[in-house]
Amino acid sequence: MSQTEKLYEGKAKILYPTEVPEVLLTVYKDDATAFNAQKRGQIKGKGEINCQIAAALFEWLESAGIPTHYIDCPAPARMNVKAVKIVPIEVVVRNIAAGSLCRQTGLPEGQVLPSPLVEYYLKSDELGDPLLTRDRIFLLDIVSQERLVEIETMAQKINENLQDFFKKCNITLVDFKLEFGIDSQQNLLLADEISPDTCRLWDQLESDSNSRVMDKDRFRKDLGQVESAYQKVQQRVLAALEK
Ligand code: C5P
Repeated sequence: MSQTEKLYEGKAKILYPTEVPEVLLTVYKDDATAFNAQKRGQIKGKGEINCQIAAALFEWLESAGIPTHYIDCPAPARMNVKAVKIVPIEVVVRNIAAGSLCRQTGLPEGQVLPSPLVEYYLKSDELGDPLLTRDRIFLLDIVSQERLVEIETMAQKINENLQDFFKKCNITLVDFKLEFGIDSQQNLLLADEISPDTCRLWDQLESDSNSRVMDKDRFRKDLGQVESAYQKVQQRVLAALEK
């Protein structure tokens, strides 16, 4: 497939059109970025691993009644998805304090939150993905009040289902980022990906605060063994599906 055909290239994936207008092909890349692309690198095999993990999680969520953009994986690191208009909000769900929540509030890392926290960030590399309030979402006319309720309800349901799933993998789902899209019939679908790039995942079989990290924080914080951590998540996810 020639490069000129691509519709869009993001930091971790490339989107191509297919012969079917309602279907797009996503190619997952090995490229890794952090801190709004100020840090760049490659995680060998990441594209294939993340594509397989995301496919497994989309299928799991679909079986729980959550509509997603996922169709199938025609080859390694390739996923056919339904064409949607992406809502320019990054929805972050947190179960345990980590990352920017600790930096911005002083909460200690690892503190279990009394209930899941749903946050919204503007999807804008230029502005550095700033935290949004509800009023700012309506001020910017990003989505309607009804749509925001739908997004929050779906995010909470996704969190419940993913927490159950990762429990079977002996993995704690600390937090994660979701993106949503709207199809031509105005249906809200879970889009983008769910993978160790977009989640914080802590190994329940490790007690040390560095050893337990199984996600992109290994790359962000130069903890090493990034590839093997991603592979471990992949193996546990696939094993859990067979249970
Ligand atoms: O950095 P922060 O603590 O706000 O990230 C919360 C969660 O959202 C983490 O799991 C992180 O990997 C994910 N995230 C992401 N893409 C971003 C920002 C955060 O996947 N642009």
